[in-house]
Amino acid sequence: MVLPTGVVDDGRVVVEGTKITQAAAADSAGTTAAGPAPADAEVLDVGGHWLVPGFVDIHNHGGGGASFSGTADDVLTAVRAHRLHGTTTLVASTVTDEMDLLVTQAGLLSELAEQGDIAGIHFEGPFISPCRKGAHSEELLRDPDPAEVRKLIDAGRGRARMVTLATELPGGVDSVRLLAEHGVIAAIGHTDASYEQTVAAIDAGATVATHLFNAMPPLGHRSPGPIAALLEDERVTVELINDGVHLHPAALELAFHHAGASRVAFITDAMDAAGSGDGRYLLGPLEVEVSEGVARLVEGGSIAGSTLTLDRAFKRAVTVDGLPVQDVVAALCANPARLLGLSDRVGSLEPGKDADLVLLDADFDLKGVMRQGEWVVTPQLP
Ligand SMILES: [Zn+2]
Repeated sequence: MVLPTGVVDDGRVVVEGTKITQAAAADSAGTTAAGPAPADAEVLDVGGHWLVPGFVDIHNHGGGGASFSGTADDVLTAVRAHRLHGTTTLVASTVTDEMDLLVTQAGLLSELAEQGDIAGIHFEGPFISPCRKGAHSEELLRDPDPAEVRKLIDAGRGRARMVTLATELPGGVDSVRLLAEHGVIAAIGHTDASYEQTVAAIDAGATVATHLFNAMPPLGHRSPGPIAALLEDERVTVELINDGVHLHPAALELAFHHAGASRVAFITDAMDAAGSGDGRYLLGPLEVEVSEGVARLVEGGSIAGSTLTLDRAFKRAVTVDGLPVQDVVAALCANPARLLGLSDRVGSLEPGKDADLVLLDADFDLKGVMRQGEWVVTPQLP
């Protein structure tokens, strides 16, 4: 079990209704400091498995063949696809589109957030750099005018959680200030900024690096660029896509060790094919071909999001990158929960929190998922 205090070999979690009421280490007799389990409790022995908190994804565009740019049904399909892989808290990300369409979509997503289906909205674009556009439509990109940023915040009706922007563009730093004032995370990404420009944006209130390394200038010894500025500053949490495609394991490990386990958030940046399969898909208005799990734009061949799910990111982090399980849990659960301001409800196994649990076997393959006290994936134990 991974508790906030660390890994314990034996322990017990008690779930009542939608909440955790106990989560504690146990001695060989099964006694915990939290006292006895309720006498009438149904007991599930998960010996030989890992029990960890449900995963929190702050950057995700879709899954199960559906997109967060689609209808309410599409959004619920994608949410469901990721829940089956352990993501119990998810922020829905949009991609660059016409402002009117983004405003409309924000209205739809805000209602689903109101109902508790998603944890909020992340706007990725349109305020990003044409030099680092990745899989965003170039003709729809614009400079980050604070008035337009404000329009998106308002359209999210209190549910806008994060905006990714290229802060070096005209209006960028003012937009960061506006976002910070409204309690919305300003995330630096799809950016061509210098080191100095990035430092200025962090000083203005930016606190997240959108998929560090991807869609930004590389780390250079005479022009260290955004990567050095984002990695060195204690105020910034860096997103990393751990799918083995977006980052070389050495780059991932360098970032993880430099930022430290408390400043990394593993994300999927998933598109519709996650939890679905190869084939043709749309990412916003652009056509994407997915082949052997790698999503690329049909035109130009840019990587277009991932087909990652967070259970696979977990397994890779432990088995390929050799990261400690406790640190991986921080990057998948506690850190993103803290960023979203949801630490009182999710992100760790503690009494009073939502009963969001993930069960993994000894090989780190997913065997069970509970969300708010209900099994999404029921463990089939021998
Ligand atoms: Zn994205």
